Amino acid sequence: MNKIGFGFLRLPLLDPKNDQTTDYEELNKMVDAFLASGQNYFDTAWTYMDGESENAIRKALVERHPRESFRLADKLPGYMAKSEADSERFFRESLERTGAGYFDVYLVHGVDSESYERSKRMHHFDFVRQLKAEGRVKEIGFSFHDNANVLRQILEEQPGMDYVQLQINYLDWESDSVQSRKCLEVAEEFGKKVIVMEPVKGGMLANVPEEAAEILAKANPDCSPAHWALRFVQQIPSVDVCLSGMSTLAQVEDNLGDFVPLSKAEDLALKKAARVILDKTAIPCTGCSYCVSGCPQRVWIPKYFKLYNEYAAKPDDKWKVAPEYKKMTEGRGAAKDCIGCGACESVCPQHLPIIENLKNVSEALD
Ligand code: SF4
Ligand code: SF4
Repeated sequence: MNKIGFGFLRLPLLDPKNDQTTDYEELNKMVDAFLASGQNYFDTAWTYMDGESENAIRKALVERHPRESFRLADKLPGYMAKSEADSERFFRESLERTGAGYFDVYLVHGVDSESYERSKRMHHFDFVRQLKAEGRVKEIGFSFHDNANVLRQILEEQPGMDYVQLQINYLDWESDSVQSRKCLEVAEEFGKKVIVMEPVKGGMLANVPEEAAEILAKANPDCSPAHWALRFVQQIPSVDVCLSGMSTLAQVEDNLGDFVPLSKAEDLALKKAARVILDKTAIPCTGCSYCVSGCPQRVWIPKYFKLYNEYAAKPDDKWKVAPEYKKMTEGRGAAKDCIGCGACESVCPQHLPIIENLKNVSEALD
């Protein structure tokens, strides 16, 4: 069993500070290895890496492999639309950038209760239904970032959706904000196919605190923390695709092969590890970067949160973290430069109190 999909969201970069510097030598190898293993689902979006993700799909995938050898999913950034006419413009730009000719799956991107109201006003769901009827895309749906009640409302009001893309991982399974389990149950009730995003929670579950890693290693020494996370999601019968945002060839190779369902003892160990991780993670940011482009102060929010989490887990290591933070802030806004405009919080799919968290980062590291 392997349902892995290749998310073009965290690509290998020649300059880690610049999303526009894709390392194509590495990426081409990753794409080739992925396809050679028999997997064929790729995922991108108009907004990923400021458009670079769609360009990379064209260069590394579309121009190097026959169109029928892969499935490609792209997304309509409804939350950015200013008028109804934007839908067609976004769709055409995505087709042009990717060079794909058509999309196998086309989703309304990042729907939550707020953006859903805008999507209803601007007829985004009607637009994707029309694309499918015209044969310009094969299947449709939406990616979702809210609670199970909102999901139910959307599925009741929007017929014809083939897919729902949900954030599902063992850490968010019972969380009050993400509600992985409850959302999955609603999607199943409506008979929808499920695409999973963030199964490793933006890499957080690949690099768990020492105490959690020990619990997992004791239960199964041959399974890496990232594999535990992927096995948890892959064993869910209604999951059709499990997206992984891979950045290196080694990660691709690690994600290929079979995923064995968890045993009862492993399931218990995972629950125990999850409690430890929740206790030790100061800011549960997934590193998706949705908050970055709209920040007037160019505050590098996810990078600072990642460093802060390292610091919070091991305050004695501040001597290591502080110089790294200083380097990161060169040419960008530091945490102290946040003016509290709220642009970041309005787009954060995890609904994090970013402004408050930046104050904590600033106190510790500025
Ligand atoms: S609240 Fe602060 S971090 Fe967020 S967008 Fe505004 S200035 Fe940037
Ligand atoms: S703060 Fe929110 S939007 Fe920004 S990277 Fe983290 S999870 Fe994504």
